[in-house]
Amino acid sequence: MQIQQQENLASHHTFGVACCAKLFARFQSLDELRAILVSPAVEKEKILILGEGSNVLFINDFDGLILTNEIKGIRLVNETDSEVILEAGAGENWHEFVSYCVSNGWGGLENLSLIPGKVGAAPMQNIGAYGVEQKDCFVQLTALDKSSGEIKIFSNTECQFGYRESFFKQDGKHKFIILAVQYRLTKSPKVSIDYGVISQELISSGITSPGIKDVAEVVIRIRKSKLPDPKLVGNAGSFFKNPIVTEKVFFELKSRFPAIVSFPSKAGFVKIAAGWLIEKAGWKGYRNKNYGVHPLQALVLVNYGGASGKDIWELSSEIVKDVFQKFGVELEREVNIY
Ligand code: FAD
Ligand code: NAP
Repeated sequence: MQIQQQENLASHHTFGVACCAKLFARFQSLDELRAILVSPAVEKEKILILGEGSNVLFINDFDGLILTNEIKGIRLVNETDSEVILEAGAGENWHEFVSYCVSNGWGGLENLSLIPGKVGAAPMQNIGAYGVEQKDCFVQLTALDKSSGEIKIFSNTECQFGYRESFFKQDGKHKFIILAVQYRLTKSPKVSIDYGVISQELISSGITSPGIKDVAEVVIRIRKSKLPDPKLVGNAGSFFKNPIVTEKVFFELKSRFPAIVSFPSKAGFVKIAAGWLIEKAGWKGYRNKNYGVHPLQALVLVNYGGASGKDIWELSSEIVKDVFQKFGVELEREVNIY
């Protein structure tokens, strides 16, 4: 166990802004984690747990201990003729875990291929893409309660998953360290391809009866063509959530902006494409020296190199203000700000 001081965080998060943590340590097992937590050097320090840092923005240096989770391993918990339950260590790379499932013919998570980050962060915001959310396959997770030191199991219901939401972003925020997550995968997968351009891409590739491997490959191809690679351009994916408004608010907006892009949501509500609002407000492709809004995806704020967390934060605030003035819709940030 090694606790470093004044660790540069630039390579520990995908925005790549300059910032530093007072203390920093890695853990590969529960025992190692417990040893760090009882060490006198970290007593009374505030603690932040990081995966791959692909959903965070640091606007200040972190005055406390940052821990990165490196608990590995994929374990077969149960297998029947029709399904498997797998448990993945929270430090496993998410995409590698999905690829492992796909290569074994176990379906359910293939639409979530190539999402950056670690397994332990997936339940945090209930990651989703192309009409699938991790909650659709989620069974349970194991977490350490930071204050009591006890191990707790959370079922799907207890995690209170919602659209980019969970108990761990609300009442459970900063209280638990996720150690392992279990997913149920099916041996007779039914592919989900009715979302966005997946079916078009499959057709243009000449695939008429797609399997999960085909879907994973198409998702990977689309994502590579549309989204900035954080290794090349600093970003944390979608900076904002798609706002969900009442039907009444939506119909008023629709009468003023007939081209507004929207999707059905829960009963009585409509999901508006935040990317459309930002683009129509004139921000898509905006660049201020070394940061801006991605030219192909208005939801993604980017650090072209050398921008500070405060630059990105201020840009996001200007966008929130401008979209509100133009459309009366309040954008909510998806990225976790520290
Ligand atoms: P981090 O950014 O390190 O952490 C995120 C939050 O979770 C932090 O608050 C952290 O404290 C907490 N956390 C992390 N690990 C643990 C743990 N073990 N226990 C307790 N708390 C923990 N998201 C989507 O939903 N769908 C997408 O399609 C998508 N595409 C993306 C594309 C790009 C190019 C990028 C850069 C990001 C994208 N994201 C997407 C966002 C991001 O990849 C996910 O939110 C991912 O799950 C974050 O994983 P991470 O390990 O990097 O978490
Ligand atoms: P896209 O497919 O062009 O879609 C743009 C937006 O419209 C998305 O935000 C998506 O909402 C919504 N949408 C599109 N088709 C929809 C449908 N049939 N039903 C409901 N909503 C629909 O966007 P993209 O940038 O290429 O991303 C593709 C997928 O990856 C999306 O699901 C997106 O959420 C996900 N993604 C997420 C992040 C992140 O950081 N959170 C980053 C990149 C991509 P949803 O977001 O609700 O799906």
